[in-house]
Parts: sequence; C-alpha cells; structure tokens
Amino acid sequence: MPQGKLCNKKPITTEDELHELLADKSGKRYYEEMQSLDVDASEIEALFRKSFKSRLKSWLEICTHCALCAESCFFYLANHKDPKQVPSYKIQSTLGELVRRKGRVDNTFMRMTMDTAWSKCTCCNRCALYCPFGIDMGVMFSYLRGICFSQGFVPWELKIGSGMHRIYRAQMDITTEDWVDTCQWMVEENEEEWPGLEIPVDKENADIIYTVNARDPSTTRKIWPMQPFCFMWPEKTGRFPVWDGKKQVWPCSPGTGKEAGCRLKPFTKV
Ligand code: SF4
Ligand code: SF4
Repeated sequence: MPQGKLCNKKPITTEDELHELLADKSGKRYYEEMQSLDVDASEIEALFRKSFKSRLKSWLEICTHCALCAESCFFYLANHKDPKQVPSYKIQSTLGELVRRKGRVDNTFMRMTMDTAWSKCTCCNRCALYCPFGIDMGVMFSYLRGICFSQGFVPWELKIGSGMHRIYRAQMDITTEDWVDTCQWMVEENEEEWPGLEIPVDKENADIIYTVNARDPSTTRKIWPMQPFCFMWPEKTGRFPVWDGKKQVWPCSPGTGKEAGCRLKPFTKV
C-alpha cells in the first residue's frame, strides 16, 4: 500500500517530521505524493461501523434535496449560486457517496472529497438553521474531515498545523514566553518612530481586548504590530474609519477600505 514519505496516514508527532514537512515549499512534493496514495476501503468501512451513528445516518437519508439550505451558505452565494455549492449536494456527493460505496473509492474521489471538506465548507453550521430537519453539514463535514485525515488526504498546511498542536500544544509553535518577548521587542524596535508605544499584555480593566491571528506572531512579525498602532494612533494611521453603525465590520481588521473599522467612538486607547 503506497504511502508517501511526507503524505501518508501517520500524523506528525516529532519535530523532525514537522521540519521535513515545512521544508517542502508549498507542499509541492506532498501533493505529488498524494496523487498515488492508496485508499484503504476496509479501514474506512471499519471506521464507519465504529463511528457512523444514527444521527449522521438519518441526516443523510432524510434529506429531501429541497435546497432550502442553499441560500444559507456563503460559498453558494459567492459562487454565483453554483448548484455544486448547495450544502446538501456537497455532502451527498462526498460523505454520502463514501457511505454508499462502503469506502470503495479511488484516489481521485478522495482528493475531490478533501477539497470539498476543507475548501467548500467552513463548518459554520448556518445551513442547519435553514433546513426544516435541522440537518447540519458543519457536523457532517467535521466528521468527513476525520475520515479524510485517517487516509492521509489532508491539506499540507493542516497536516503541519495539527502536528504543531501535537508537538507544541500550540498552532504556530509560539509559547507564552515567545509571545511576550515578541511584544517587547516590537515596542523597542518601533518606539523611536512611535514615541509612547505600548503593547500591553494581560492589562486589567482595559476597554478593548485585542487578539492577533494565531499565525501572525510567527509569520508576519513586521505587520501585526501595525494593528495595535491603529488603535493608539488612528488619526495618524488613518486605518480605522469612524464606525457608522450601519455596517457590520470585522472589529480588528486593519484594512483600509470602508468595510474595515472598529467600534471606536470615541477613540479609546488600548
Ligand atoms: S434544507 Fe435540509 S432537507 Fe433540504 S436540501 Fe438542505 S439539507 Fe436537505
Ligand atoms: S456549514 Fe458548510 S455547507 Fe453549511 S452553510 Fe456553513 S459553509 Fe455552507
């Protein structure tokens, strides 16, 4: 049963394995290996027997294909109402097929399933609110992701991310000490240009809690401190338009467009 060196069923558990995967730029070799990964139908069937219980089973069976869930899914709306983005279609053509064929599927099917499970559903659970039966694709796609992972069909970045969780108990290998240290050196590096700059950590009774994307301290150290700057000096950075109360916006986005802003009126220092 061919297993790739980088792309295989084994989860990442050591730093060496992790570094090897990280060295494979953009997952080039990883995805090449994925193309010849075998699918173990008996293993999938055994997994179904163990974990595919009545709730998921009945959800797959009772779906009437009424498409009432379609409008709930932003993938459907953002893709010009492509029928292939209707939540029920996405799950029936992947998990549904996998169950019906008892895991007897090929590599191409598994790659399509992986793509659908991670790139066409965020597991936001909105469709469940629209479905008269409460069928929840978010729950089903989470389950399907587990099946894909068990067969080695998982996006390169997520194999890395899950490995980091296993090894460091953190998504991006950033420890608390590293994080505090990063905040301090960012202040030192920028205080000449921004006198009085402060990046307070765990400050009590603050008006605003600011968190960064988990990958930012690791991959975009030069960029993320710009975001606290925006809170401290919005008049200089010009990044945050005044909240007009009409648009729901990403509260921490540093974007420059009208949609980016925050509820800072009057301006409150972090
Ligand atoms: S709304 Fe429910 S029953 Fe209708 S297609 Fe969607 S999942 Fe199936
Ligand atoms: S759970 Fe998935 S399929 Fe359902 S609305 Fe959210 S993104 Fe769309």
